[in-house]
Amino acid sequence: MIASVMMSDLSWDEYQRRIADEDAIVLLPVGAVEQHGYHLPLGTDWMMATYMARRAAENVGGVVAAPITYGYRSQIRTGGGPHRGGTTNLDGLTLINLVKDVLKELVRHGARKLAVIDGHFENRFYLDEACFLAVRELEYAGITDAKILKMIYAEDIKPETLETIYAGKTYPGLDLEHGGILETAMMLYCHPDHVDMSKIPDEDLPKFPPYDLFPVDPDWVPASGGLSSGKGSTVEMGRLLVEEFVDLVSTSLSKEFR
Ligand SMILES: [Zn+2]
Repeated sequence: MIASVMMSDLSWDEYQRRIADEDAIVLLPVGAVEQHGYHLPLGTDWMMATYMARRAAENVGGVVAAPITYGYRSQIRTGGGPHRGGTTNLDGLTLINLVKDVLKELVRHGARKLAVIDGHFENRFYLDEACFLAVRELEYAGITDAKILKMIYAEDIKPETLETIYAGKTYPGLDLEHGGILETAMMLYCHPDHVDMSKIPDEDLPKFPPYDLFPVDPDWVPASGGLSSGKGSTVEMGRLLVEEFVDLVSTSLSKEFR
């Protein structure tokens, strides 16, 4: 069997040994299956979350639980909305219960150091709730030594990194960074075979009103589904971002669990 930090690659007894003997941190990547324009795959968010979790686990001696690939509903002003083909959403309650169940199962088999690694902006409050409820239910069951760290790795970018990457342009913010430079560059670095730069269109970027509508109006979003342009993204930008995020996740885990 290959040496791996991925739970799915391990036999049950090897997994159990890492939890029991090494007190390994168990990282749970959560993503989404969501359109990311014409040039990035539907799996972008869970692929990136899983990549980050794997690299961090290699740094801190952790194990990456099988990822949760589906995520909360794509919102029109942050993810382009639910109407484009393949954007396959969970209801909020489903995501909360799914993540809560998995966290409690990980604890049932001995994990006490847990981390939820979020690759999809819209998941955020549902993951908070899942972690909160898991800890509360565990406490009711008498397990008080489980701790969960939850983070969106792309939330805290160094100003100098943003300056280098967005030289002369304005960073649109994480909410509009959908299929934009950040995600495109990271995918170019981590999953180059899954990016087609020639498919990034010239199109006007959306100007959203300060409210939402239900049902959503698909015309708010450009035809491609992107909310900011990925044009100009390079592998080097991706390296800069990804290595910074890997370091951020790794040091955060070390700080809380070692
Ligand atoms: Zn994304």
